[in-house]
Amino acid sequence: MSNKKGSLSINSENIFPIIKKWLYSDHDIFLRELVSNACDAITKLKKLDMIGEFEEPEGNHYQVDVKVSPENKTIKVIDNGLGMTADEVEEYINQIAFSGAEDFLAKYKDKTNEDQIIGHFGLGFYSAFMVADKVTINTLSYKEDAVPVYWECDGGTEFTMEDGDRMERGTEITLYLGEDSTEFANEYRVREVLDKYCAFMPEEIYFTNEDAKEEEKEEIPEVVEEDGTPVEEADSVEEKEPEAPKPINDTVPLWAKHPNECTDEEYKEFYRKVFMDFKEPLFWIHLNMDYPFNLKGILYFPKINYEYESIEGTIKLYNNQVFIADNIKEVIPEFLMLLKGVIDCPDLPLNVSRSALQNDGFVKKISDYITKKVADKLSGMCKVDKENYEKYWDDISPFIKFGCLRDEKFNKKMKDYILFKNLDKKYVTLPEYLEAAKDKNENKVFYVTDEVVQSQYINMFKEQEMDAVYLTHNIDSAFITHLEQANQDVKFLRIDADIADTLTETADEEEMKTLGETLGDIFKKALSKDNLIVKAEKLKNENVSAMITLSEDTRRMQEMMKMYNMGGDMDPAMFGADGSETLILNANNKLVKYVIDQPEGEHTNLICEHLYDLAQISNKPLSPEAMTKFIARSNEILGLLI
Ligand code: ADP
Ligand code: MG
Repeated sequence: MSNKKGSLSINSENIFPIIKKWLYSDHDIFLRELVSNACDAITKLKKLDMIGEFEEPEGNHYQVDVKVSPENKTIKVIDNGLGMTADEVEEYINQIAFSGAEDFLAKYKDKTNEDQIIGHFGLGFYSAFMVADKVTINTLSYKEDAVPVYWECDGGTEFTMEDGDRMERGTEITLYLGEDSTEFANEYRVREVLDKYCAFMPEEIYFTNEDAKEEEKEEIPEVVEEDGTPVEEADSVEEKEPEAPKPINDTVPLWAKHPNECTDEEYKEFYRKVFMDFKEPLFWIHLNMDYPFNLKGILYFPKINYEYESIEGTIKLYNNQVFIADNIKEVIPEFLMLLKGVIDCPDLPLNVSRSALQNDGFVKKISDYITKKVADKLSGMCKVDKENYEKYWDDISPFIKFGCLRDEKFNKKMKDYILFKNLDKKYVTLPEYLEAAKDKNENKVFYVTDEVVQSQYINMFKEQEMDAVYLTHNIDSAFITHLEQANQDVKFLRIDADIADTLTETADEEEMKTLGETLGDIFKKALSKDNLIVKAEKLKNENVSAMITLSEDTRRMQEMMKMYNMGGDMDPAMFGADGSETLILNANNKLVKYVIDQPEGEHTNLICEHLYDLAQISNKPLSPEAMTKFIARSNEILGLLI
């Protein structure tokens, strides 16, 4: 071949600035592109072998080598795959890539946001120029009598191509790193990038630091004690055989295997390795589908760390074992991102913009399929393995509820498998709860949001054999609204929203009203709270003196305001808050009776103040000032005993 010089193409001068600038956020993908090309070259050669176009020589070991030289600031990606002839370099590198560049420019000219291009696929080989000033290719095709080719390009518009000197079949690509990219000359940085993108690529990848190798040979490190004296080696006089180098990747990832061939231990091990989570996952779903599209993956349900409340999952997306990115919301339903998992979908159109992905019917099908599989697994578990389903419920329920809120299809499939933990810590469905409570509180679902704060109410409920359910997670307030919309005749009431009829004795309404007014006057005066609302009730439990109830609607309104961070300095009365926080006084309680009998009594004020605080405490924490007074008053009361 005569030496060849060429201009890449008229438009090509535009591509390098774009490669450098647009893809600024993840420069590290160049390594993914080059290593995946190297794997492709081997896979293709294996296929040629299979169809008889090539015969694998004896003693051949297919492998990709990534070599970094911190001194020379180079990275080499070497494979012993099929190599390229001069014609092929011309076609695949010189022409294709640059006509590709034209397309690339045309397509993305107006998109200034680098995020638009998902995975930046299609850029392939030329992404090397994101980090390199100069790139060379040394390649020898597997074809008989092939002549090696040497190609070089400095990132301008020109390349040179001439006969090369590579003796072995395959391709060696060398990147001379640019000044801004010397981080990739660091062994640990490169290893990190390889682990990120190449951990499951389908051909063996070996990584070496070219400079370190020689150093190792020169100085054999001496083993010394802490004080510096050499350690006497017992019986290891013989040199140990140097360990055979190990590939950095797992060429057959667990998800690629058939579920029947995977053990629980393997699933757990994979989880630990990929997600660095040393808590065991609760369970997992192995997705394995060939038709109508190709999709494999494993989704794990992690154990929730309640200490931090927020649940953060990761779904890693792969394309033919090549890592693309975490949590691509266009492909993976949002609520699934609370899980941890891997999804490999070779059919994904990744060389398109994110907005195009979002509107892609095929991508939607993938996402629907995953959703369906997850719902099937969960509902199936509830049906045939109720015991485990209940055991996991506390951990998986935020996920399921979030899914129901976000995805109508998921909601449809899961709505009959929503469980509620009741006061006996048993799990019941909504119809089961309503059925059991139908005589006592028709179509009302009482719920507890805080077991400690609301314990007073819980105890009263238990005494009267009434039931309530625990809805303590952040997501529950939204989920309650969702349930009420789906079940129009059911009303959810926090356990302290009202005094249920079941808790009180039947009493003369008029008498109670007058009593309430009398008590109201006394308490208002004692507490100097003019707009306090007081009601008298005859509670069956005479030990309970006072309670606060706050109407469900008002409380929800307040919570909403808090969530949107409104109402910081707004008067809650504006929203009727004062109008619905009611102090319930138990006419059967002896302290309340004392107040009624002796409105001007020696201890009346003290008792009023204290009853009010006690009622507050069992509703929400006291303010710091109220707490200080409460403690002081408690001491005072104890003082009365002696
Ligand atoms: P893609 O991989 O999407 O085809 P690339 O830009 O990454 O696009 O590569 C362009 C072409 O160059 C490849 O399709 C392949 O034919 C050729 N090529 C790249 N790297 C190698 C390699 N290491 N060995 C053999 N051929 C290669
Ligand atoms: Mg490629």
